[in-house]
Amino acid sequence: MHFSWVEKAILLVLLSASVAAFWRTFSAALRNILESKKDSDFRLRPLGPRFRKFFWEVLAQGLVIRQRPLPGLAHAIVFWGFLAFAAITINHIALAFGAAFIPAGSGYKLFVAAFALAVAAAIAGLTFRRFVIRPRWLEPVSAESGLIAFLIFALMVTYLLEFQFPESSAAAKVNWWAHTAVLLFFLPLIPHTKHLHLVLSPLTVFLERHGFSRIPPLAGDEDFGLDTGKDLTRIYSLQAYSCVECGRCTEHCPANNTGKILDPKQIILGTRSYLKEYGPRGTEPLLGKHISMEAAFQCTTCGACEFQCPVGIQHLPFIIGLRRGAVNTGKWEDTHGTDLFLNLERHGNSLGFAHTEREKFIEKNRLPYFDGSQEYCLWMGCMGSYDPQGREIVLALARVLKHLGIGFGVLRREKCTGDPARRLGNDYLFGEMAQANIEQMRRSGVQRLVSICPHCVRTILEDWREFDAEFRIEHHSELLARYSAQLPANQAGRSRIVFHDACYLGRYRGIYDAPREVIARSAEVVNPARSRKRGFCCGAGGGLAFLGEEKGKRVNLERAEQLLATRPDVVGAACPFCHTMLRDGLAAAVPQPPPLLDIAQIAAASLDAPPTADRPPD
Ligand code: SF4
Ligand code: SF4
Repeated sequence: MHFSWVEKAILLVLLSASVAAFWRTFSAALRNILESKKDSDFRLRPLGPRFRKFFWEVLAQGLVIRQRPLPGLAHAIVFWGFLAFAAITINHIALAFGAAFIPAGSGYKLFVAAFALAVAAAIAGLTFRRFVIRPRWLEPVSAESGLIAFLIFALMVTYLLEFQFPESSAAAKVNWWAHTAVLLFFLPLIPHTKHLHLVLSPLTVFLERHGFSRIPPLAGDEDFGLDTGKDLTRIYSLQAYSCVECGRCTEHCPANNTGKILDPKQIILGTRSYLKEYGPRGTEPLLGKHISMEAAFQCTTCGACEFQCPVGIQHLPFIIGLRRGAVNTGKWEDTHGTDLFLNLERHGNSLGFAHTEREKFIEKNRLPYFDGSQEYCLWMGCMGSYDPQGREIVLALARVLKHLGIGFGVLRREKCTGDPARRLGNDYLFGEMAQANIEQMRRSGVQRLVSICPHCVRTILEDWREFDAEFRIEHHSELLARYSAQLPANQAGRSRIVFHDACYLGRYRGIYDAPREVIARSAEVVNPARSRKRGFCCGAGGGLAFLGEEKGKRVNLERAEQLLATRPDVVGAACPFCHTMLRDGLAAAVPQPPPLLDIAQIAAASLDAPPTADRPPD
């Protein structure tokens, strides 16, 4: 194909204009990211997990395909198509200057043609889904999405038409210009639209903070969390600009699904809008015009959003960061929140009981005190110490531990781990709670702990690291699963127990099988429609158990209905917070709900079961 100097000049002008328009918008985003403050706690190493994640989530598109197989595969085909087209596109422009390096009819061109067909079909499918099926979480449908889809489709069609026309024909030339026009129009649209993720998301995935839902520590006394734009770090800004607006986070958010105004996608897009309007030096509060304070405090910290996000956006640091900003600057006012903080300050527990109540319970039930000689320190937590149902779970676990011959003792004084204060943004109070406990535990020679509460386990294991605490703590499901062979097995008349995954056990720590193994010793495990990684929150996390839930349907009622849909004999749980939420949810859902038992209670009950034919008496 021959190009006159006039054609070359026109191409050069159009190409320069297109690249300049791209750069103008892209550089503004890049400036906002780079001018954000540095992440004080960011560690690039270890690199191994970063490269593995990059390979799996970016190159292999493993996450999107696994989460939503059909649309995920369609998205992956478009992504791989873009990669395959990179060399073809450079070659396409080079052709005009007589510098083409991929011969017409070469194997690579045919290979890309196969991709073009697949991409065209994938784009048609995705467009149909967005504009005809219209999933709620993809709303609002934008004309921009339609335009981009059309442009990608047109690129594929014009590429395929190349094979139809003789190389030097006029039709081939017209088709070449058509392909070029679409290309040059498409390029500046990338940074203008959510398609900026094409450029940024590989970086976002690679530079994710280590650790799921990990809350970065405050960087000294001058750090109050995310109050204004000045508090946004580069990672926050990079993530805000990388959102692809797929709505997966919103689709899985229990708050959003029950009619709250919280929409995790909007938290991220709100941060992006803030950066576009005020920049990273903005002194306007982040919670206000672009992000709602009410929404930030409706989050149960279940982690479903972060778990689902295909481009590595970590919602929890955003949400907790915003809460920190609001709490530390006195902008958040909530009577339930104030009561909770006062209870923690005055009584050292979230339920507001005098600590002597715990001592009375321990002594009445003859729970041994930890004296350094026992294998485990049994961490009771606020619920296990003061809540009637939580106490029953602790007693059931104590009974099973005795049956298994495992030595344990409880601490004489135990304060709340600081979990609800931490998740509600009150780091000062969290630090007080954590440090008082750490001192007490070090004095008592505690090294190994077991707890019935996944929130306590997570806080002690991860959040307390800020204070150089390195206690080994496990959830009772882990311990019981390890010893499950020594628990009675009941094969006769097995009841059906539907198991509710606690977010802080499942998504936060990847423990799904252990509680099921414990239940399976004596009953049939039933999984609700939303279970394991896709489990639906009970509504208690993030301090919300103490705040009340005024808007929309209650999350615990929604979850109770999901569990009841399996028609279980028993509802099983493995967290005292889930337990209390599900108890209320089940009671609200049906007049005579099935019994609700923790796995420790299920294991303890199996000790009383009459021996079945296939097992000898203990
Ligand atoms: S952590 Fe859970 S409740 Fe909070 S925004 Fe994410 S999905 Fe919604
Ligand atoms: S934050 Fe992640 S999951 Fe949510 S819309 Fe953006 S890209 Fe999708």
